[in-house]
Amino acid sequence: MAFLRVAIPSPLRRLFDYLVPETEQDTDFIPGIRLLVPFGNRQLVAILVEVAEQSQVATNKLKPILKIIDKTPPQPKFIFELALWAAQYYQHPTGDALLQSLPIHLRKGEPCERLHEYLLHANPDAQETLSARAKRQQATLELIKLHPDGISKDALKAELGSNSSVKILLEKGLILQRHRPHLSRQHSEPLREPGKSLNPEQAIAVEQINQQRGYRTFLLDGITGSGKTEVYLQVIEKVLKEGKQALVLVPEIGLTPQTVSRFKARFNVCVVYMHSNMSDKQRFKAWLQARDGDAQIVIGTRSAIFTPLARPGIIIIDEEHDQSFKQQEGYRYSARDLAVVRAHGENVALILGSATPSLESLQNAKLNRYSYLTIMQRAGNAKPPVVELLDIKGCELQAGLSAALIEQIRQHLDDRTQVLIFLNRRGFAPSLSCHNCGWIAPCRRCDARLTLHQKPPHLHCHHCGSQKPVPRNCLDCGSTELTAQGTGTERAEQTLISLFPNLPVWRIDRDSTSRRNAMQEIIAEINKGDPGILLGTQMLAKGHHFAKVSLVAILDADSGLFSTDFRGMERTAQLITQVSGRAGREKILGKVVIQTHHPEHPLLQTLVHSGYQSFAADELRNRATSGQPPFSHISIIRAEASNPGRAEAFLQLAKLTTGFDKIISFGPFPAPMEKKAGVFRSHLVIQSGKRPLLQQFLSQFCLQLEHHPLANKVRWSIDVDPYDMF
Ligand code: ADP
Ligand code: ZN
Ligand code: ZN
Repeated sequence: MAFLRVAIPSPLRRLFDYLVPETEQDTDFIPGIRLLVPFGNRQLVAILVEVAEQSQVATNKLKPILKIIDKTPPQPKFIFELALWAAQYYQHPTGDALLQSLPIHLRKGEPCERLHEYLLHANPDAQETLSARAKRQQATLELIKLHPDGISKDALKAELGSNSSVKILLEKGLILQRHRPHLSRQHSEPLREPGKSLNPEQAIAVEQINQQRGYRTFLLDGITGSGKTEVYLQVIEKVLKEGKQALVLVPEIGLTPQTVSRFKARFNVCVVYMHSNMSDKQRFKAWLQARDGDAQIVIGTRSAIFTPLARPGIIIIDEEHDQSFKQQEGYRYSARDLAVVRAHGENVALILGSATPSLESLQNAKLNRYSYLTIMQRAGNAKPPVVELLDIKGCELQAGLSAALIEQIRQHLDDRTQVLIFLNRRGFAPSLSCHNCGWIAPCRRCDARLTLHQKPPHLHCHHCGSQKPVPRNCLDCGSTELTAQGTGTERAEQTLISLFPNLPVWRIDRDSTSRRNAMQEIIAEINKGDPGILLGTQMLAKGHHFAKVSLVAILDADSGLFSTDFRGMERTAQLITQVSGRAGREKILGKVVIQTHHPEHPLLQTLVHSGYQSFAADELRNRATSGQPPFSHISIIRAEASNPGRAEAFLQLAKLTTGFDKIISFGPFPAPMEKKAGVFRSHLVIQSGKRPLLQQFLSQFCLQLEHHPLANKVRWSIDVDPYDMF
């Protein structure tokens, strides 16, 4: 007797057994296929994990499955195993993890068929002719004739508004329906335009990677503007010539049409991309093209790490330090770390590229687990920018801008270049306070203050999203003297417009780019190259190549200097270096001005005088001394409940019931922001020098938490290798 052991989307960390229906006794059940199963009074899409010979549950208690959705697994075996591995490593319920590795269409149980599987062709041997009156049929036939390689019904409909004549034309034998040929290897010459001639460091990098046979991870540490993308392109060129495919992952907001067009401009092949702004249908189509080998280059954000490839050739993670590669809620996997497992399993090379590599990756390079490649020169004739620490102690500030900075901005604008101003706070002002009594408008659901926005006027909590109208009076003393405290991007924008009324100010933050395509439109404006001011949050920091920016100003470096998070310094150093890297990327020499009250701060001193690599070496020594990652491994268990104290009690109790050697735990303690979105949160940090030990401990611990007496009153989650401690 066979039992179908399946994973279903349930918060429980276990699998469920089902019976094979009478009618399907001869079916070959392959792990990875989707099944429809009864669960309580619902029907769920499940994934078969194994066919077992025994079950712990009595057979008369088990139900048969309802339906077999797939005859063969939609994913290749290795991707399925990778998804299973990730579920275990990240201690995430298997069903949810497996389903998240699939496109949404498939999670819903829809058939795994190719859209446009068939194409319409004109029949060269057609006998019949159309009457002149059948206008629509004629138009349809004409259009089909214009496509000697065939056209899909959807494309016809898009052109003509209808494809209702197709059926008649097929009946009359005027057109034929054929299976779409797989497009792979259609071009023997993949290059559309020749590659740039490489400088020596680029050339070494390309050569080293291209010589690699089989798995190896390369850390490509190249300063901003050093031409890392050119290295990727020339490595991909070789992969394509071997008839293989490339998977390129970029940060969440780095996947712009500009990025994609750089790949399309270079290569004559099918490039598909996948990101969260696409419809499910578009993503599913791209996924199928990748799986079946029709797309030679796949560019995507985090979740694309699970995209199957028919002929994997290389994986590239651009800006590998970027936090968006780690999913920060629910299933908290790291696409960068999974890329290492995947490249290893598929026996291909992996490139991790960054101007500010993560300390983990640098340490792996140091230990020779990764090959370390550096590019310390900017590409072409561009020079690295000159950096100035501008001490603003005691200076009068106008919306965060010192007089000395305003003067420099004016000079650069007079030279008809562009200026980029970085301020990592959106909204008008970070708080609204009462001049009479000191009251500060709080969020009622969080331990946080509300941000004042002016367009449109309202108070907004950036932690839970609650919004409120702006009060006229202080809620404490009734005074009307309410003042906006501090500077956000909206306020800086207003001031810059009044200082430079004749020039455009392009504000780039989550609010100004929320409309679809808004970001693209602003970037297109900037790339026209006219003088103006770019003002924005970290959205501006990443990967952009603005040729005309000569001055970069960081308005407030101080907020990042005193973080309690162990990764705080690393993050600040990366952000400052990346933002600075937007200056002087082509012919113009760049200048960076960093406003601070702490010019003597070691982080700033090291960054300015010795650069990020030097900072990273220092910081790695600090981490070694304090035994923090990458010199140990940590996980955080986060719990939240509507009563204060309950989450803590949950973690406390669980902690007492577990004894394990060589595992250290810290806490439970209240989260840095204990109350958020109306619930009280508590953290428990588990640390160990030995990863397997930590893994073993966590799987037992998670089961204990599931059976905890408070388990149904507390929401909890586990974060393995957390990116931040919040
Ligand atoms: P990175 O990704 O390292 O920040 P980019 O790949 O965006 O840098 O390259 C910066 C600029 O230099 C781009 O305009 C690119 O076209 C150009 N570039 C790259 N390599 C070369 C080269 N070998 N010769 C001339 N220009 C180059
Ligand atoms: Zn007051
Ligand atoms: Zn809030």
